[in-house]
This record gives sequence, structure tokens and C-alpha cells, in this order.
Amino acid sequence: MTILTFIVGAVQTNCYFVIDEKTSRCAVIDPGAEARRIINKAAERGLTISQILLTHSHFDHMLALEELRRVTGAPLAIHRLDAPALTNSEINCMRRFISGAELNCRQAERLIEHGDIIEIGEINLTVMHTPGHTIGSVCYLSDGVIFSGDTLFRDGIGRYDLWGGDYSALCESLASLRDLDGDYRVYPGHGSTTSLSHERANNPYLAMSQPDAWM
Ligand SMILES: [Zn+2]
Ligand SMILES: [Zn+2]
Repeated sequence: MTILTFIVGAVQTNCYFVIDEKTSRCAVIDPGAEARRIINKAAERGLTISQILLTHSHFDHMLALEELRRVTGAPLAIHRLDAPALTNSEINCMRRFISGAELNCRQAERLIEHGDIIEIGEINLTVMHTPGHTIGSVCYLSDGVIFSGDTLFRDGIGRYDLWGGDYSALCESLASLRDLDGDYRVYPGHGSTTSLSHERANNPYLAMSQPDAWM
């Protein structure tokens, strides 16, 4: 598996390519802006974009979505509970970011659930439902790697005050990530990559969600 990172758009969203080198197939996670740059990079490397995946449906993760779908024909996968935001600028926060602005996307080709598998050539990504930042936020897991969206950042967590945000759900999601076996490289929706072991040791929100921290 090869992972490429693109920092795109006004709020510096991380867009990722997950590449299966054997088949040159590639998934794009969170095409937050700069569709042309994403498309050109895929062409330059001879990649076929076979899937578009969203970790959640905030505008800053999907401003390049429709152009990417139009050019590549790749299907979109999103958690069922975040799908309504594709067509609702209140829920996807576009209006909040630019007053009166609209972001309307077509409905997803695939609605995903916890435990679903996404195939990219010979790579399997497993869907982990991690609500809290949004109701349908997910992480994608594979071979020691987590794409954590806006659920978990290096030394921080996503906000929970936007539509569908829920602090206690987020704490439970963070506890589920913390309790995964072994270590993972973490690729968040914003900021630099980290590791689960670093977050277990340094991120107060992961420590705080340990049950005996409340005693
Ligand atoms: Zn977000
Ligand atoms: Zn974001």
C-alpha cells in the first residue's frame, strides 16, 4: 500500500490516495478541494481512481467531490448516517463557512456501515463507525494504518459542537480507537500524521476516556 497526502483548500484538509501498486488502483479519501490537482496526480502516476471515500460529510472534505466523480466516474462511499449532509448545506456546514453558500452533491453510490470492507485492488479497508464529530463519522483501517478523519488528530480531537456532534459519543469512539490491538500509523483529516501509541501516551482525550480516569 502506498499513501500520498495532499493538503488542500482553505482549511488545510488532508486528502489521501490509498494506492494498490499491483493493480494501480487508487482510492481517494476526502477530496476536500483542488480536484484538478488530484486528477492530474493520478494521471501522472498512471493510477485509476476506483473509489472515493468520505470519513464524514463536512464541506471541507468534499468540495472537490463532484468534479472528481464527473471526471473519474468513481463511486462514492459514505456512512449511511452522514449521507443526508451531501445535499444539505446546513448540515455539511457550507453555509456556516461562507454565508449563503451552497454545496449540493449527488447521493452516494454506496452507503457503508461499521465492519464493511472496501476493496482497492488487493487492499482491504475496514470501516469503523466512530460517531461524535458527526453522527456518521468513520475511520478506515488497514494493515497498521488508520484514516481517522476529524475524529482523532495528533494531540487533539475533532470538534463536537457542529450538527450531529456528540461529546460522549466521541469519547466512546476515541476509547474504541485506543483499545485497538497493537500500533497504527494515524492519518488524520487535518494536521500531521501520528501513531496510536503516541496518542495513547500523549493525547489527554484518549487518556480521559479510560474508565478509571473518572474515579
Ligand atoms: Zn469535520
Ligand atoms: Zn475537517
